[in-house]
Amino acid sequence: MTTSNEALLNLSSLLTSAPGAPLEVEGEGLLMPLTAELEGVGVTLAGPLEWSVTVRSTGGDDDFIAEGRVAGKSIMECRRCLTDVETPVAAEFLYPMHYQPSQDANLTLIEAPLPDEVEDLEGLDETGEDRLSFAAPEVDFAPLLLQLFAIEQPLTVLCREDCRGLSTDGVNLNEHPDHRADDATEVEPEASPFEALRDLDLGND
Ligand SMILES: [Zn+2]
Repeated sequence: MTTSNEALLNLSSLLTSAPGAPLEVEGEGLLMPLTAELEGVGVTLAGPLEWSVTVRSTGGDDDFIAEGRVAGKSIMECRRCLTDVETPVAAEFLYPMHYQPSQDANLTLIEAPLPDEVEDLEGLDETGEDRLSFAAPEVDFAPLLLQLFAIEQPLTVLCREDCRGLSTDGVNLNEHPDHRADDATEVEPEASPFEALRDLDLGND
């Protein structure tokens, strides 16, 4: 499988009403987004993303279902010792998809309004679920796949459960377990946020 910075599916065969036209289009590949695209969503990758997408006709003329998966390894900093950790991440999706030739951008994710917004948007969206729309048969799923991958990343990672972290002078204690920081002072237990209030005279006694 070749690596590309696009994840293209050509849906033109789904848009014909010819009898015997296929009811689904599948695609898969390896996706390596451009550096700027990765930076845009805060992702650093250890290698290309594996993706697969299937778009099915649901019987209606312009209505489809898009289903897919993206998986790979993102590189994240251990929250204690700051070393790079390869973190497996996988995301799956299933969206209704609508052909909307008049829209400007090709593939667009339309997020369902939050319940308290529905009133303001009356009539704009009755489905209550996120959906995709596309404007041209040649659809690049790469931006969507990358976005879903980024959302699925954990907020923080540890290089190992018992990571010892860094000493106060920045030495990795996993590699140098016997290291003592020069100032050798014990790290003080975190002060209570109420400490400052202790001597405060509230003037009500
Ligand atoms: Zn660590």
